[in-house]
Amino acid sequence: YLAKKERGNVQRFQSALSEAAIRRLNLEQDLRQALPNGELELYYQPVVTSGAQQPVAVEALIRWNHPVMGLLPPDQFIPLAEENDLIFSLGAWVLQEACRQLSVWRRLWPELRVSINVSSRQFTQTDFASSVAQALAVHHLPASALELEVTETATLDTESLGDYAALMSAGLQLAVDDFGTGYSSIVRLFELPVGILKIDRSLVAALIPSQDRRRSTLPLIRSFVTYARESGLQVTAEGVETPEQLEVLKQAGCDLIQGFLIARPASAAQTERWLRQTTEREYDPQA
Ligand code: C2E
Ligand code: MG
Ligand code: MG
Ligand code: MG
Repeated sequence: YLAKKERGNVQRFQSALSEAAIRRLNLEQDLRQALPNGELELYYQPVVTSGAQQPVAVEALIRWNHPVMGLLPPDQFIPLAEENDLIFSLGAWVLQEACRQLSVWRRLWPELRVSINVSSRQFTQTDFASSVAQALAVHHLPASALELEVTETATLDTESLGDYAALMSAGLQLAVDDFGTGYSSIVRLFELPVGILKIDRSLVAALIPSQDRRRSTLPLIRSFVTYARESGLQVTAEGVETPEQLEVLKQAGCDLIQGFLIARPASAAQTERWLRQTTEREYDPQA
């Protein structure tokens, strides 16, 4: 009886496995079509100064308008794209589209910058630095208008960094994303030409102690800020959701703030509306 039951479990397990495998395969096929079908879209989330809350940059965050499943967040397809070579065409599109959109927005906000997320496979790809230079040139943008966000700093070899040297001396910024999580190597940071540390939102979420969390991450964040100051880096806090978090981060010396409290990631049209409203409010003497 037991043996029979176990056989049943194995069968159920196998069919569940193949179901997942089939879904994956379908998704991969769909993803190949997503780019030519125009189903990919960039959302944008503003990054503001911690003091006056002035927008200084927007982070491009990819979305997939899947014909059946609707709007998909990156977690549901970026890992898949990274496993095969789709990440290269996808990443090239992100670079182009973000630069195109920024060149439009800079007519209204000449200092605005854009940051894009670059997977480490893409960053170390031989042609990527030259496609960055090309995208900037095509859209008449200075290198200082663009930031590249990378995680997994440990995998960034010095060799591929050399490709970016000219761009970086022209002002291209490199940001370490999800800083303070297992993906970023603190030791490696001393060797990398990084300009911005983006403190991971898990550390921001644990900033203010609660009943089930007695300790705060504040001392840790303070030490990152101290390190950043001494090394001439800027610190962005990600995932800021409450006014209390904002206040604590401002006191701790974080330069830049990003999170739902300021604005959620939104379509280009909605982001443009947000930028208009935010900057009008600042310049309106009646307000
Ligand atoms: P990330 O670069 O760390 O982006 C921040 C993520 O946190 C975004 O999720 C954003 O929607 C979310 N977020 C922002 N503020 C808050 C907040 O206050 N509270 C909470 N709970 N979440 C907040 P999203 O858009 O789902 O992106 C997830 C990740 O996917 C990104 O993390 C990035 O690593 C990756 N990604 C996004 N776009 C691209 C892309 O174009 N290329 C590559 N390679 N990766 C991308
Ligand atoms: Mg990012
Ligand atoms: Mg992050
Ligand atoms: Mg991330």
